[in-house]
Amino acid sequence: MFVLEYKLKGKLIQYQAIDEAIRTVQFVRNKCVRYWMDGKNIGQKDIYRYATILRKEFKFAGKLNSTACQQAVERAWTAIAKFYDNCKKKIKGKKGYPKFSKRTRSVEFKKSGWKLDRDAKRIKFTDKNNIGELKLIGSRDLFYFQEFQIQRVRVVKRADGYYCQFILKLDVRDITPELKPTKKMVGIDVGLKYFYADSNGNTINCPQYYRKAEKRLNRLNRRKSKKFRTGQKQSKNYLKTRRKYSKAHLKVSRQREEFAKQKALRLIQSNDLIAYEDLKVKNLVKNKKLSKSINDAAWSQLRKWIEYFGVKYSKLTIAIEPNYTSQDCFNCGKIIKKSLSVRTHICQCGYSEDRDVNAALNILKKGTIGHIGTWSEDLNAWGENVSIIVGSNTCNSKQSQ
Ligand SMILES: [Zn+2]
Repeated sequence: MFVLEYKLKGKLIQYQAIDEAIRTVQFVRNKCVRYWMDGKNIGQKDIYRYATILRKEFKFAGKLNSTACQQAVERAWTAIAKFYDNCKKKIKGKKGYPKFSKRTRSVEFKKSGWKLDRDAKRIKFTDKNNIGELKLIGSRDLFYFQEFQIQRVRVVKRADGYYCQFILKLDVRDITPELKPTKKMVGIDVGLKYFYADSNGNTINCPQYYRKAEKRLNRLNRRKSKKFRTGQKQSKNYLKTRRKYSKAHLKVSRQREEFAKQKALRLIQSNDLIAYEDLKVKNLVKNKKLSKSINDAAWSQLRKWIEYFGVKYSKLTIAIEPNYTSQDCFNCGKIIKKSLSVRTHICQCGYSEDRDVNAALNILKKGTIGHIGTWSEDLNAWGENVSIIVGSNTCNSKQSQ
């Protein structure tokens, strides 16, 4: 777990609403502890059930976001469970019988009750306490993290103001503040069979969920068309299906975006140079047979994110002319014509490789040739030559200012 903290900036009335939410958390927690004390054999489930009753009984408790309320119950249960645990272990002396909290200072939300506006660095709390939208003050950019990585959002009251903590689930690579040179480079070929293949021989498959979502989208689209009335005012049913369709569509495109972003970040993290083809998406999508895979692979998004992270982390990204990358033999340079269905590149020179991997190798070669003399001898022996590449290639390279 990793915590990102920002100071919150809002109006007095918003701070008061936060206070109210925190007070409610304490109220719910203490009520639950009291319920356990007064009852017999009260278990975790009973306490959760009790909290539901509380929310109905006390209007202000009902206003608290449901995940925040859940978390308050969890706090109560943690105290009780700790006591049980101590008893079981037969610890001598005090067993830590649950006490009532008097100075609760935070309210914690899970996956709901808040919404991020990353561009403006704002967070909006959507519970009924009317906390509203507050500005996030801090240097670390939340933009690098994906929504699903945010496990919890905690608002903490401190002496000098209010803070917002994002509790993230990450692996170590994600939190490296500055990326050290890896002295590695990679060419990627955005293929038809794979999401992409790289010059190290790795292939990344297309995400499965898109295929599933696609079926659903088609179904919704058909339903929508059936309800369409030409030349008339559209029915409520039509509008409803249309809304459903666009919602589903939005969901898929977000999923794709997240996937592309994740992969792009990985590529940037593990390489100093990334070369790829400068493909014109529009031209390719016109070809119907290819279009599905291409949309599917969402590689225009991949490219966008590679370039975005490339600038951000001062890594070099090069778009090369997409000529013959899959036909050329990486080993001897001979053109080996093959149709789309031929998956393996086999050359008379004795070289054989997965079609897309061969292409990825060619892409890397094109991206670096003329810039690094020793390229073919040792893929990794270029370390210090970075400055030569920066600004010197005519391709579409991006560099940090
Ligand atoms: Zn060859």
